[in-house]
Amino acid sequence: MMYAPFYVISFAFGATIASFLNVVVWRVPRGESIISPRSHCPKCGATIRWWQNVPILSWLALRGRCANCGEPISPRYLFVEILGGALFAAAFWRYGIFAPLAWVWISLMITGSFIDFDHKLLPDFVTVGGMVYGIAVSVSFWAAGAFCGVSLPPPDGSAFFIKPLTSLLGAAAGFGSLWLVRFLGTLAFRREAMGMGDVLLLGAVGALQGPVATVAVIIISSIAGSAVGLSAIALSKTKFGSFAEIPFGPYICLGSLVWMFRGPELASWYLGFLGFGP
Ligand SMILES: [Zn+2]
Repeated sequence: MMYAPFYVISFAFGATIASFLNVVVWRVPRGESIISPRSHCPKCGATIRWWQNVPILSWLALRGRCANCGEPISPRYLFVEILGGALFAAAFWRYGIFAPLAWVWISLMITGSFIDFDHKLLPDFVTVGGMVYGIAVSVSFWAAGAFCGVSLPPPDGSAFFIKPLTSLLGAAAGFGSLWLVRFLGTLAFRREAMGMGDVLLLGAVGALQGPVATVAVIIISSIAGSAVGLSAIALSKTKFGSFAEIPFGPYICLGSLVWMFRGPELASWYLGFLGFGP
């Protein structure tokens, strides 16, 4: 376990970034600055001291309550911090020294998911920003290879080091396929069937992970989204007519992260399952 300290550092860094993402998720859709004022309790206004703001540990030490007034702090803050830590550590396991490139993407996916859950919207910095990031990663990887005079092989089992042309094709495939779904759905239901944010988000997935990933992500997100949606209807928390109002963005993000960690294995398992395997 010579790498153990790197996993611990990755986890701690991920939890810290996720703690900041909790602030972004709360403030950005409300048009508030993410820099100032400092974090404060929404009930009593007490400023949160640095030692009350240590990811995961502070929430546990304070048992999920404001140190000043005792107002409960949502366990979601704790959940997002643990999620960020776990995903950053998993990215180190999968990508080693390239993990920071995955960390940026993981941060965008966490932010997009929770803003979409809360507000049913996906901010441009996640969707358009993600698309620019996807293309930039592939161009940089290609340029680094060209600079060294070799064609760099992608790291073993990588699901996102793709050629610039593949990146552009992926962006077009992701954007185009959901745009078509949105267009046909809007014709069929005579109202907006899907947000433009979802269309742009799948374009971003394609730009980073390529056209094959967009197909896989559509499959994964449709299955996960339907399972959650149908369960919600079965538990009669929502009516069938409101099915279209369940945000789809979080499932696209989920699919993209599944692809990032287990994509190629999943694809060959699925093809084998269908009888196309070796
Ligand atoms: Zn308070």
